[in-house]
Amino acid sequence: MSPEIVVDLASIRHNVRTLRELTGVASMTVVKADGYGHGMVEVARAAREAGSEWIGVATVDEALRLRASGDRGRLLCWLTVPGDDWAAAIDADIDVTAYTVAELDAIAATGRPARVQLKVDTGLSRGGATLESWPEVVARARRGEADGSWRITGIWSHFAASDEPGHPANDAQEHAFRHALELAEGLEPEVRHLANSAAGILRPSSRFDLVRFGIASYGLDPAPGETPDLGLVPAMTVRAPLVSAKRIAAGAGVSYGHTWVADTPTTVGLVPLGYGDGVPRHASNAAHVLVEGKQRVMRGRVCMDQFVVDLDGELPEPGTEVVLFGPGTHGEPTAQDWAEAAGTISYEIVTRIGGRPTRRYV
Ligand code: PLP
Repeated sequence: MSPEIVVDLASIRHNVRTLRELTGVASMTVVKADGYGHGMVEVARAAREAGSEWIGVATVDEALRLRASGDRGRLLCWLTVPGDDWAAAIDADIDVTAYTVAELDAIAATGRPARVQLKVDTGLSRGGATLESWPEVVARARRGEADGSWRITGIWSHFAASDEPGHPANDAQEHAFRHALELAEGLEPEVRHLANSAAGILRPSSRFDLVRFGIASYGLDPAPGETPDLGLVPAMTVRAPLVSAKRIAAGAGVSYGHTWVADTPTTVGLVPLGYGDGVPRHASNAAHVLVEGKQRVMRGRVCMDQFVVDLDGELPEPGTEVVLFGPGTHGEPTAQDWAEAAGTISYEIVTRIGGRPTRRYV
């Protein structure tokens, strides 16, 4: 067995179906960043099979790669950068997102009838038309619809703090979004959307016509401590063979910098994955793995290609399976456990893992 990332597409399908049934509105499965590390093409295919009406990606390049893979359904991208080829995106039947009048002018200049979604910034202060510029953007959008340059297929925005349901920004943003929709009177978008996973689950009033589900599609909790148990199943398992196990004496320092020193004799095992494979260095001395049914703690710093775990006196054979994280159903840690150990979010754990380990779909 080589180190591998096992992705259970049945879990993705189950999660997509569960989320769609929960909201009662259309679903967009977000597969940017290579499907949050799970594989963009495979996840998109599974999501379509499970009934996801839309797929969402960040970049034009991601959208074009999905089209090249054979995906033909509705597909939105939202992060065009200067120099991107609007014409190629429009020709590939991708719904593009515009934030500004200048972007709308560039879309019109392609001379192609486009499908355009307008993004309004309701308080994240990231992409999107500012509320000040919104009337001007809407006016340009109306003119373009009248002269056949495009159809405005969507109006949307994005929350800043949906994983904190009590955060005042949520009410303020939803209010601003409703106001922006009123100002866009005369445009009749197919879909108005605001919610990502956390809002789609926790804030029914924000569902509008569609929810953009990213992290929850992969079975991970968008708002730990807040989300009800929906029976979502984490789709990714990361496993590797144990390279070796050996005894170390009391006083032995482990890994670079000797940030951990054995206070009694113990045994340690070597796992052939490191920060070069996306194992977070911040998880040093903190994350756990599953070996022969027991959770074992990492000792010392994560290296580029390997890390060390405390086997507490046992000496499993080389080749014994080590599970870094998975759904948690067999006693293994989850990506959320790793996120807590590394002081980050599960999104970062799953999107960063990759490179050398092979990905296998089940
Ligand atoms: N919508 C937009 C615009 C995003 O950038 C993202 C991801 O960050 C999502 C939806 C999906 O968010 P989540 O993974 O929290 O569901």
